[in-house]
Amino acid sequence: MQEINVTTPRPTREGLGVGSSILEGRPALRAEVEKVAEVAGFLWQKGWAERNGGNITVNVTELVDDDIRQMPAIGPVTPIGLTLPHLKGCYFYCKGTNMRMRDLARRPMENGSIIRILDDCASYEMIADNPVRPTSELPSHLAVHDYLLAKGSPYRASLHTHPIELVALTHSQKWMEKDVATRMLWSMIPETKAFCPRGLGMVPYMLPGSNELAEATIRTIDDDYDVVMWEKHGVFAVDVDVMAAFDQIDVLNKSALIYIQSRAMGHEPEGMSDEQMAEMTRAFNLPK
Ligand SMILES: [Zn+2]
Repeated sequence: MQEINVTTPRPTREGLGVGSSILEGRPALRAEVEKVAEVAGFLWQKGWAERNGGNITVNVTELVDDDIRQMPAIGPVTPIGLTLPHLKGCYFYCKGTNMRMRDLARRPMENGSIIRILDDCASYEMIADNPVRPTSELPSHLAVHDYLLAKGSPYRASLHTHPIELVALTHSQKWMEKDVATRMLWSMIPETKAFCPRGLGMVPYMLPGSNELAEATIRTIDDDYDVVMWEKHGVFAVDVDVMAAFDQIDVLNKSALIYIQSRAMGHEPEGMSDEQMAEMTRAFNLPK
């Protein structure tokens, strides 16, 4: 008997029709990318995302099906510059380099792309929808994702942005001391402690995009913070999805605004007492 070779045709971009998107027919993946677009709009509205400021990367590997795994690359194999052993075969949605959050809000697949990490764990290729090169901050974002996976963390999103009032705070060394800003921000309104329960980790000024900054960020996350403040620059937050990461930054910045308003009214805000904050920790079973 003759052997019959059955081969499944590889899906091609042509086969999907002109103008098709990887998001079509994949509601879970679409929902994740739509969250990125919604958050990008919030960042712009808040004035936290001037020009091409800020970055978002989301690990979407769990939403990828066999057809996506077969998709051909739409750009060259590109070295990451780092070897990240836990990212083998992972997929990420990444904001594009030089792209603006306000544009990404309306057209996420024209201002960002989905990439596949190759088996060498040291290079990637773009697979959809357009050959939009990922953010120049990709190596540091991927290093954080590699760390999160290694730790068994459920966190899949990382967000970097420039929240005005939190950045302003870091222009005084008083607030750069460990947990001094955290205590003040938590004490402005009870919800901040409940919804950013690990507080704000502080990283002294380092060159944007440097490996040194990426390593310091990972060390600070490892020191049990979800939101890391980069002195005189911005924040870097991680959480289960990009909306949750945004929420943590938003509640912290709200507290900074309350502090500023109190000072503008001519008084140093009292803040909640240590006992009131300890009561929050007990009542809501918070980690700190
Ligand atoms: Zn920045």
